[in-house]
Amino acid sequence: MTINDIESLGVIGAGGAGFPTHIKLNSKPDTIIMNAAECEPLLHKDMALILHHSDVILQGFKIVMEITGAKQGIIGIKNKHPEEIELLKSKVNGNIQVITVDDVYPAGDEVTLIYMTTKRIVLPGAIPISVGCLVQNVETLYNIGLNKPVVEKFISVAGAVEEPATIIVPVGTTYKEVLSNFNITASNYVVRSGGLMMGILEDDLNKVISKRTGALIVLPDDHHCVTMYRRFSTPHATDIIAKAGCDQCYYCTEFCPRYLLGQPVRPETAMRNRMFTREDFPMLDPGNLSCCECNLCTMYACPEGLDPRGATVIEKRLAREQNLKWDGEQITVHPMYEYRKVPTKKLMQRLDVLMFKDEGQLKDININPKTVRVPLDQHVGSPAKAVVNEGDPVKKYDIIAKASGKISSNVHASINGIIKKVTPSEITIKSA
Ligand code: SF4
Ligand code: SF4
Repeated sequence: MTINDIESLGVIGAGGAGFPTHIKLNSKPDTIIMNAAECEPLLHKDMALILHHSDVILQGFKIVMEITGAKQGIIGIKNKHPEEIELLKSKVNGNIQVITVDDVYPAGDEVTLIYMTTKRIVLPGAIPISVGCLVQNVETLYNIGLNKPVVEKFISVAGAVEEPATIIVPVGTTYKEVLSNFNITASNYVVRSGGLMMGILEDDLNKVISKRTGALIVLPDDHHCVTMYRRFSTPHATDIIAKAGCDQCYYCTEFCPRYLLGQPVRPETAMRNRMFTREDFPMLDPGNLSCCECNLCTMYACPEGLDPRGATVIEKRLAREQNLKWDGEQITVHPMYEYRKVPTKKLMQRLDVLMFKDEGQLKDININPKTVRVPLDQHVGSPAKAVVNEGDPVKKYDIIAKASGKISSNVHASINGIIKKVTPSEITIKSA
């Protein structure tokens, strides 16, 4: 298999990033890291994939190692998964090893995982290849090993549902249709797609599953997390709250995983800058470009219930717009790094989600949508361009939109049917 094959299959980062994989593979790392450190609370789909499809995943892993010429492969997995660890260990040898990491959040952040598995430190503003590493999510490797166009997605359905599960869903299926297969235990609820920490609060259940959707978490409408998400739903709200309430206690920074790795991220500075800044006189800290947006500062650390993440993200955007860069030369891991890691259970307690079942076996639910709306902008970069017209018959796996531009990815039909509608953002297919 070649990079061109992976490009034609439309493989993108399935962990949520959505970066086209063929572009990422066009590099020469010495180490490939399989990111099996699934760290969003209540998500189990990567572990379900490992238990049921380890051969395909490892096939994808070996293909990536061959294509890039990497000398070693590392599987980074949390030590709380003995069954999956044993299974993987029984199937790898030689230059691939399994390295276990603590059950902390955000172990799946690639800069964090690189440090935890190799002790290499990615400098602020740099990417993993700068330290010879390339990180690939479990499902991305599965998609490579499967060697078929990517038209389905594994997702965790969890939260206020009777039986949480991992299921496989055709791309373009609405959330509403997915959830109709579950008994929801809340009378009024909303859905967080992607994950409690880094996902998106969705009010519209007609939104569809894309190649980067990792989860649908159902939450009662009056749940603590929903209140937090809603309070900080706009940069303006974050700005006002920063100006009103931050007492500069510094907890957000003290718990920030990137700060603890030595990166110059300072959410408390971002909050202060929001307090004193003016549109025409922004005070910015380019160190905040290293924020990975993990949300730990807002959802876990801040004792005042404020939004340091939001403030840091505003700083990131402004610093990017002004082309600011971190100009230091080296960083050192914080001496308290080992002691300030946030255990997942503690995070779940803080998020008030311990009442939900923390499980997600792979379930054979046959989701056969009558209509799918396949997004053309599922990946980072330019949307794909449709190559079909209304009325065209298509079969599952047919290409329906081609990559356009330097960074883009192909899109394929996820069901057999007839093209009903084509817009610049999505293609609707009605099943035959
Ligand atoms: S933890 Fe909250 S109150 Fe404390 S400095 Fe950060 S934003 Fe301000
Ligand atoms: S979201 Fe907050 S805790 Fe996470 S990296 Fe950014 S500043 Fe640090």
